[in-house]
Amino acid sequence: MNTYDTYVILFRGLSVGDHNFHWTVDGKFFEKEDYSGITGADISVDLVLEKTEKHMKLNFDAYGELIIPCDRCLAPLSVDIDAQRSLIIKESEEGEIDDDDMVVVSRSEHQLQTAPWIREMILLSLPMKNVHDKGDCDAEMIKKLEDMSNGGETISFE
Ligand SMILES: [Zn+2]
Repeated sequence: MNTYDTYVILFRGLSVGDHNFHWTVDGKFFEKEDYSGITGADISVDLVLEKTEKHMKLNFDAYGELIIPCDRCLAPLSVDIDAQRSLIIKESEEGEIDDDDMVVVSRSEHQLQTAPWIREMILLSLPMKNVHDKGDCDAEMIKKLEDMSNGGETISFE
C-alpha cells in the first residue's frame, strides 16, 4: 500500500485557473525519511495550483508542529513549522534538467507526486539547532549524556 497516493495530483484533467488542495501531515509521513528522528507531526499543508496554457505554478504553504529530539537532551521537542515553497511545472520533451524551483514533465506524464516536495519543504524549514528553552531540558538525560562523554569522546551536537 502506498500511503503517498493521497499526495498525487492528476493534472491533465485540471482546467486553466487556480485549484486548491489541502492535506494534514502526521508523523507517519516522515517514516521513510532518513532523518528518522521525527516522532510526530501535525502540519497543515495548503497548495494552490495555478494552471496556465504554458505551465503550472505550485504554491505550497505549511504550518503546524513537528516533534523531534532536542539537540541537547534528546527528549521530544515541539518545533513550530511555517514553510512556503513555489515550484514551476513545465512540459518538455527536450530533456531539460530539473532544478530546485522547476520540474520538467514529459507529455506522457499525467500525475504529480507532491509528497517529496512537501517533505523537503518542511525539513528545510527546520532551524539548524533545535533545543528546549533554557531550563526545560531533561536534566537527568543531560547528566547521563555528560557521564557518557566523560568516558572518552565528547559528544557534540553542533
Ligand atoms: Zn532539551
